Amino acid sequence: TTTTETRKFEAEVAQVLHLVTHSLYSHKEIFLRELISNASDACDKLRFEAIANPALTAGDGELHIDVSWDKAARTVTLRDNGIGMSRDEVVANIGSIASSGTRRFLEALGEEKKADARLIGQFGVGFYSAFVVADRVTVLTRRADAAPEDGVRWESDGRGEYTLDAATLPERGTTIVLHLKDGEDDFLDGWKLRSLVRKYSDHVAFPIRMPKEAPPAAEGEDARAEAAPEWETANDASALWTKSKSDIPDDDYKAFYKSLGHDFNDPAAWTHNRVEGSQSFTTLLYLPAQPPFDLMLGGRDERKGLKLYIKRVFVMDAAEELLPNYLRFVRGVVDADDLPLNVSREILQQNRQLERIRGACVKRVLDLIEKLSRDEPEAFAAFLKAFGNTLKEGIVEDHGNRERIAKLLRFASTKGEGATQAVSLDDYVGRMPPGQDPIWYITADGYKAAAGSPQLEAFRAKDIEVLLMFDRIDEWMLGHLHEYAGKPLKNVAKGELPLDAADKAKQDEAAQAAAPLVERIKSLLGERVADVRVSARLTDSPSCLALADYDMAPHLARLLREAGQ
Ligand code: ADP
Ligand code: MG
Repeated sequence: TTTTETRKFEAEVAQVLHLVTHSLYSHKEIFLRELISNASDACDKLRFEAIANPALTAGDGELHIDVSWDKAARTVTLRDNGIGMSRDEVVANIGSIASSGTRRFLEALGEEKKADARLIGQFGVGFYSAFVVADRVTVLTRRADAAPEDGVRWESDGRGEYTLDAATLPERGTTIVLHLKDGEDDFLDGWKLRSLVRKYSDHVAFPIRMPKEAPPAAEGEDARAEAAPEWETANDASALWTKSKSDIPDDDYKAFYKSLGHDFNDPAAWTHNRVEGSQSFTTLLYLPAQPPFDLMLGGRDERKGLKLYIKRVFVMDAAEELLPNYLRFVRGVVDADDLPLNVSREILQQNRQLERIRGACVKRVLDLIEKLSRDEPEAFAAFLKAFGNTLKEGIVEDHGNRERIAKLLRFASTKGEGATQAVSLDDYVGRMPPGQDPIWYITADGYKAAAGSPQLEAFRAKDIEVLLMFDRIDEWMLGHLHEYAGKPLKNVAKGELPLDAADKAKQDEAAQAAAPLVERIKSLLGERVADVRVSARLTDSPSCLALADYDMAPHLARLLREAGQ
């Protein structure tokens, strides 16, 4: 007594279906990620319900997701032994707007319900993405607490109607059969499917199994004859970051770092944290030991290497959403429990929860660099060599963490070892003699120009330390770093060196004596200088150029002139 019931999709579902199938063209492959993520959710739900009702998983306790294909029938099939659906649930979940993914999708489209192809491309669109590659989809499902006769068969061509039938299904869970459209035969390939599983679902915590591919059939022998397939797991099936720290050996951390791509070397350091609370998330963040190519080439556009997962499902590379630009060298994973899986990049950028996660990531990374500076000076020096100048951008970019970032920087100094950049601002402040207020520095376009500048003569004579800044970014950075630990940072070429009383008397005397000379030089140089003064800043050289407090450094002015500004 099987009766087929035909129903219409809710109007909005039909609308979504139309948009999805017509706009997702360049992102077809995400159907697999979406269906696997639903299967994984279904396994999660069953696992949870079985806590109260162990009978639900009796006899079949190992939750898994199977992906298979049939070249002759031109189908791709996903099967999970998760929670399954009752007839009412099928109607509610995949025939109406109730599904969370679809609702969010429509919300994101806004009032006009006009789909920007780009927006859709970045969207997960849930179950309906099946119709991007299939012109007919069959769902066979049986809820874990239902009898075999109470299974359901749902089928649709995705054009406005679907059918419902009763079905007898010996096993709980859901099977989804995609009857591929013409031209989608690419997906009838084990290698292709496996690579998609690895790309998008490697860290789904349930095994995603695929049939072991049989060796080519011998003559006259049908190798694929009726035998039940032998399954092998295609994904890693253990999300490393979900394990507890004490269970993860360093080698696993290192191997995982390499599996993220971009680097074949071991990382310099990592930090792994779980935050529980009103909002729960896990971060596993790495500092590379070597600069990757994109940074070496100065490229900023490709910011990969920080992956956003939502409940162990890979959502997108989200380095820009999760970290400020000056920490772009960080690699790793953020796994958020409470973000909608189908979130778009645009929505992410304004997401409050993400802001909190971002703040936590920045803090973790700065903590990690600080720890490296304390515990592993050599690794830290190598790290700064690779990324120190990138980090300096943070002085400009991240006001809130300016002091913390400044603390991490290292400079050459008149009391350091040659051009080696190893003196911290704390070192400097720690050895300031009583009575000295400013942290003195000089900028130049190279170590020699800085260290050999006549501006330093008076400071040397008085044994006052001066930091030597000669990286391209320093001038820009110093424009935003006015003080550290309550001490002002001052350029030796700007303003006047403060004098003690004896010096002051000597200088007044000298100034009087030299007054006629000064007048004569002024009249000779005329408009070319703002002022000519007798100065205490020199001991050996007869004269030097000085800058007023707000003047541009000479080498920067030269750079700008060269750039045609
Ligand atoms: P979302 O996953 O965001 O809820 P989807 O369109 O992907 O949106 O799925 C719609 C709903 O259909 C799910 O919420 C779930 O209730 C149901 N569903 C989909 N696939 C399965 C499955 N394999 N097992 C059980 N329920 C499923
Ligand atoms: Mg889904």
